Amino acid sequence: MCGIVGVVSHSPVNQLLYDALLLLQHRGQDAAGIATDQSNTFSMYKANGLVRDVFRTRNMRSLQGNSGIGHCRYPTAGSSSEEEAQPFYVNAPFGITLAHNGNLTNQAELKEEMFRKDRRHINTNSDSEVLLNVLAHELQEAAFGHTLDVDAVFKAVAMVHRRARGAYAVVAQIAGHGLLAFRDPYGIRPLCLGISESEGGTEYLVASESVALEGLGFRFVRDIAPGEAIFIDTEGKLHERQCADNPSLNPCVFEYVYLARPDSVIDGASVYATRLRMGEYLADKIRKEIPLEQIDVVMPIPDSSRPAAIQLALKLGVEYREGFIKNRYIGRTFIMPGQGMRKKSVRQKLNAIPSEFKDKNVLLVDDSIVRGTTSREIVQMAREAGARKVFFASAAPPVVFPNVYGIDMPTRDELIAYGRTVDEVCKEITADHLVYQDLDALKRSISDVNPALQSFEASCFDGVYITGDVTPAYLDQLETARHNPKAAPAEDAVRTQLNLNPPVAAE
Ligand code: AMP
Repeated sequence: MCGIVGVVSHSPVNQLLYDALLLLQHRGQDAAGIATDQSNTFSMYKANGLVRDVFRTRNMRSLQGNSGIGHCRYPTAGSSSEEEAQPFYVNAPFGITLAHNGNLTNQAELKEEMFRKDRRHINTNSDSEVLLNVLAHELQEAAFGHTLDVDAVFKAVAMVHRRARGAYAVVAQIAGHGLLAFRDPYGIRPLCLGISESEGGTEYLVASESVALEGLGFRFVRDIAPGEAIFIDTEGKLHERQCADNPSLNPCVFEYVYLARPDSVIDGASVYATRLRMGEYLADKIRKEIPLEQIDVVMPIPDSSRPAAIQLALKLGVEYREGFIKNRYIGRTFIMPGQGMRKKSVRQKLNAIPSEFKDKNVLLVDDSIVRGTTSREIVQMAREAGARKVFFASAAPPVVFPNVYGIDMPTRDELIAYGRTVDEVCKEITADHLVYQDLDALKRSISDVNPALQSFEASCFDGVYITGDVTPAYLDQLETARHNPKAAPAEDAVRTQLNLNPPVAAE
């Protein structure tokens, strides 16, 4: 999962892109980058770290131009090395920069094919660099013998859809031509379009989430449809086209469970409203499993489970209290490398208020249980704070399959629910009782809010990989690569360091 943004304006966009990335920071805290275009010259700066730490005044000054793209990264494929921060740049044809959210499932085949057939060298292990080169190749083919017009741009995107598999929401700039954005034919990862009418004329902003548009004074226009591309040419004219053969909308359920900000609206469903519904459905299930008189208090694990917990408490008629306080200056725990580090950081991140737990039977609500590290630690903290009984409820079903579409849930053995019954997971996290949401109820939580949404990408819960190309062998391969990260990048040894960051002036 990553955050992407693209903007075309009539005035410099560096600050706008920076502000958009701050609004998308929750989507990736590993690296950040911006590429702007001024009269066919790209300026780019990217590095590992949070947006506020990556960009200094001197970098911002070097990012000149009235259009640009930005990215905040959360590593799912490849490594978290600095060369894999985005955007990526390729100099032919035209000069293209690209930022991508998602994950390609046929990256290895494409990389090989690019090298053998298309004579293109991919210098990192990033699937986004592969995607950029596929787009570049297809733009070259589409424009062969004539100029690159709008039809040719859309034709190239149609070819990308035919070659690339997996999840991708993309923003790209083609030097001298314009800004391109597109979404994969299954509409797995989100992307939306906003507009702002100013004295200078119309400005466009595309972003992973609507929160980025609203926060910057853009009016939400619509979500980009699955398979659709939009292109804003150098005259500032917007072109839109469906480029996929059989598009269908299957948004990722995990966006609603956890990834997106609650104030975003994705594919016509308010994330906040879906989380309230998750709480209601979960309450129905809890009522069947735990005698209500045994629950003294409902507590969220801050922050993402809060809307579900509030609604759940209301529906059960049980008191809602905040027993854990989050240190908001600490990053998300799953970003931390290694299990030991993760465990430690749970305690750094959350602290219990003993008076809220003393001699009480508490029902803790979390949005999901992935590795189980957080849940186990939190149950223990609740007991140490004096709780008598600790019940645990997850607003999402058991996570039992790896996610191959851009969420970091790569190996089955890292998932606490894999190969375990609910009772066994309950024992593992040392709770007195554990209740998981049913998948059907989770899906209904979203389609209740937008009835047009009927099909979802929910593979981490049901193992159904909508792109149809994910085989057990592919999953095994991913797991081997994960357990053995050094084995994969064979070309590491001969890789040369490329530094595409522009030279910076002294501050
Ligand atoms: P854990 O079960 O210890 O992995 O922690 C799960 C919590 O981390 C959930 O409640 C989510 O809030 C959050 N989370 C969401 N996505 C992920 C992910 N891909 N990997 C790990 N944790 C995640």
